[in-house]
Amino acid sequence: MELLYESTRGGERNVTASQAVLKGLADDGGLYMPERIPALGVSLEELAGMNYQETAYEVMKQFLTDYTEDELKYCISKAYDEKFDTEEIAPLAKVGGVYFLELFHGKTIAFKDMALSILPYLMTVAAKKQKVKNEIVILTATSGDTGKAAMAGFADVPGTRILVFYPRDGVSRIQELQMLIQEGENTFVVGLEGNFDDAQTGVKELFHDKDFARELESMGYQLSSANSINIGRLIPQIVYYVYACARLYQNGEIGKDEKVNVVVPTGNFGNILAAYFAKQMGIPFGQLICASNDNKVLYDFFRTGIYDKNREFILTTSPSMDILVSSNLERLLYLSCGRDAKMTKALMDQLSAGGCYEITPSMREFMKDFCSGYANMKENAAQIRHIFEDTGYLVDPHTGVAAAVYEDYRKERGDNTKTIIASTASPYKFPKTVVEAVAGSVEDTDEMALIGRLEEISGVPVPEAVRELSEKKIRHHLVCRPEEMKETVKSTFSNKRK
Ligand SMILES: *Cc1c(COP(=O)(O)O)cnc(C)c1O
Repeated sequence: MELLYESTRGGERNVTASQAVLKGLADDGGLYMPERIPALGVSLEELAGMNYQETAYEVMKQFLTDYTEDELKYCISKAYDEKFDTEEIAPLAKVGGVYFLELFHGKTIAFKDMALSILPYLMTVAAKKQKVKNEIVILTATSGDTGKAAMAGFADVPGTRILVFYPRDGVSRIQELQMLIQEGENTFVVGLEGNFDDAQTGVKELFHDKDFARELESMGYQLSSANSINIGRLIPQIVYYVYACARLYQNGEIGKDEKVNVVVPTGNFGNILAAYFAKQMGIPFGQLICASNDNKVLYDFFRTGIYDKNREFILTTSPSMDILVSSNLERLLYLSCGRDAKMTKALMDQLSAGGCYEITPSMREFMKDFCSGYANMKENAAQIRHIFEDTGYLVDPHTGVAAAVYEDYRKERGDNTKTIIASTASPYKFPKTVVEAVAGSVEDTDEMALIGRLEEISGVPVPEAVRELSEKKIRHHLVCRPEEMKETVKSTFSNKRK
């Protein structure tokens, strides 16, 4: 049965999956939602016999109904191949009575790889379907990690090119190196003489610039967005929750229909929303526990029904969760008011005007599958150390937040339901914080030097993504000022036209 998409703000209906993937954001500023959440067509028994790629097909075919079987299988096989360092793609580690779902075995050793390795293929197939002749141009501003994950995903995918702006003084040396060594003839990265806000504002302006769009068009290009509100990122994230649950069932860790709780270290609310979708599709999930760091907007929201971003922004040791506006929450709001687009738009308007809104009691009731907690930096470090001392397993600072929140949850509620913790990055991505947490202090502040130390401590071999930093040569040298961003894009692409 065909599944169509609609904007959460009411301006668009009857949009096909491939149109939604290609556009990313609706013209009215809303997010695309499937008009219903489909049920999984297969049982847990059947899923237990499937590998990651087969599971991905079963989940994604329910949502991407205008993609043919061949097209979907092509996207899946291109995305989930040897670039992951384990055949399982998303393995579960049973540690101290919980299951860590390791989402960091892709190219950039963090969970964004799970979706960004397939999005480029979903987009190019969509472009073909929509008879788009132009090459797809992805423009992104990054504060560090997403830019690299997007470049790695799009590298050498025919029919695409990607250009990433990053603030030269606003990313760590490791993050910068990761981007500067990125291979692929279609990848470009520009160091911006400004901060992340300058980069983001500049990119947003380019997306709204009609003249710019026409100029690109005449050069044979069209802009598209790879950010986390694209349904082409959300849907692939449902897969690993279905896969994890099937593994638990297969290994006899859970019985048929036994509930499983899920804890997710949350920033933009994309990852935990995917868990919610998995539950709606029929996966026996119980509580979805939303874990925040010191920027605990979501914790306050689930506790009070009031979303308020008017507060100090705190830079923490779990930077990918340092977010005050969680864009994917709009999708849950939309569902919680019975798909009332007027209501959703009104709340979003309040958010952009005053930074604050309050939901109704019935919307709060609708969200009862979710609960929330937060851990500050000190609690996070203590938890990383505690897990390591008890079990020898080392987690990154994002997963540390989730584990600390889970520990509190279990103590408070006495809920001993089996639990999956989404493990969103390798500890090697944050060597300083992790070494500091387990060793008490660090003698060396050079992150590269700490990598060897981390290997000694953990006994886990240094992943390729880290080793290549000192082995590969720097390929990108472009820099520009904020007012030069448009010219930089144009000249980069006019020179490189094949
Ligand atoms: C992006 C990210 C998160 C937050 O995920 P959301 O889907 O934005 O909630 C958590 N941990 C890591 C390591 C990330 O990169």
